[in-house]
Amino acid sequence: MRVLITGTTGMAGSHLAEYLLAHEEVEVFGTYRWRSKMDNLMDLAKAGRLRTIGEGASVSAASALAQAVEKQADRNCLNLVEADLLDATSIRRLVAGVRPDVIFHLAAQSYVPTSWTAPVQTFQVNAIGQINLLEAVRESGLNPIIHVAGSSEEYGLVAPEETPIKETNPLRPLSPYAVSKVSQELLAWQYFRSYGLRTIVTRGFNHTGPRRGEVFVTSNFAKQIAEIEKGIREPVLRVGDVTSRRDWSDVRDMVRAYWLVSQRGVPGEVYNVGSGIAYTVADLVDLLMSMTSANIEVRQDPSRLRPSDVKILLSDSTKVQRQTGWSPRIPFRQTIQDLLTYWRERV
Ligand code: NDP
Repeated sequence: MRVLITGTTGMAGSHLAEYLLAHEEVEVFGTYRWRSKMDNLMDLAKAGRLRTIGEGASVSAASALAQAVEKQADRNCLNLVEADLLDATSIRRLVAGVRPDVIFHLAAQSYVPTSWTAPVQTFQVNAIGQINLLEAVRESGLNPIIHVAGSSEEYGLVAPEETPIKETNPLRPLSPYAVSKVSQELLAWQYFRSYGLRTIVTRGFNHTGPRRGEVFVTSNFAKQIAEIEKGIREPVLRVGDVTSRRDWSDVRDMVRAYWLVSQRGVPGEVYNVGSGIAYTVADLVDLLMSMTSANIEVRQDPSRLRPSDVKILLSDSTKVQRQTGWSPRIPFRQTIQDLLTYWRERV
């Protein structure tokens, strides 16, 4: 079985690639851009399990890429192919050249605050980029399973009595990012209904762990603490709104859910994926503080507050659990400990 991951240089994409490489029957392909930071793929590179396919003018056509794939792809490696969602030509070449049986569409502008300062780019990458992908699949005549990574941010404004949130909850997105994810989900459904493309959407609740981008709250706090411990930052942990409640899963649990959904999920359906436990950001701060012996002051930084923040996200993941047998395995404490270790090794 041939699998293609868009956004394999990201946090989830890199973990998914590693998870899939442990499956002997799966041949793994992933996308990168010429200026992608390759840090998240360093473990694979060090293990000699990274391979780049189809670089250069002579393999710019899909047919040439298809030949390169047949000659060069290695089942023991993550096989990288350059592609940009914003470039329909490169996405057509990617799909026709790799000819995947399963696509995990993870590539996105994934950072909520940037969606306020760059809403158009967020829409172009997330919504228009996905049209490029779906059209490329349609043109190819292939019929892969297409997993689309939606988000719990799509729920947006949620009343306390609506939690835990089921898939049937109204979507009231509160950021351009969230609206772009609703668009991705509706496009997936429309292509399923109109053209029979086998799209399946997950609404992933927050997930984190090693390799989480440092702009995201869990990673940002863990990195600040690691820097304070090293003496390269004053002993002040700068935080935003600590009252928001989030349902954090471990990214390694999340990618296992993505795989199970692709194998056992029903095309045209949407599945929540989350831990079913909501912690406040203040709980996260307390947990991190319990893992350090440094004496640290916690201070609110107004620049870290968002124009309209989602107050609570708590999942009901019964549907995905029943359909696929998935359940979370890694406790939150372990996830945060691993994230802190990740930063301690890097700052
Ligand atoms: P990251 O931000 O870590 O990774 C995003 C990936 O998308 C990177 O590989 C990036 O490549 C790629 N990408 C961005 N723009 C383009 C483009 N124009 N063309 C091709 N690739 C592009 O995100 P995560 O791994 O955290 O998230 C994966 C998916 O899951 C996203 O769709 C996100 O919205 C969704 N999600 C994440 C949640 C979370 O808590 N992590 C929660 C719910 C949903 P490059 O390295 O070149 O920048």
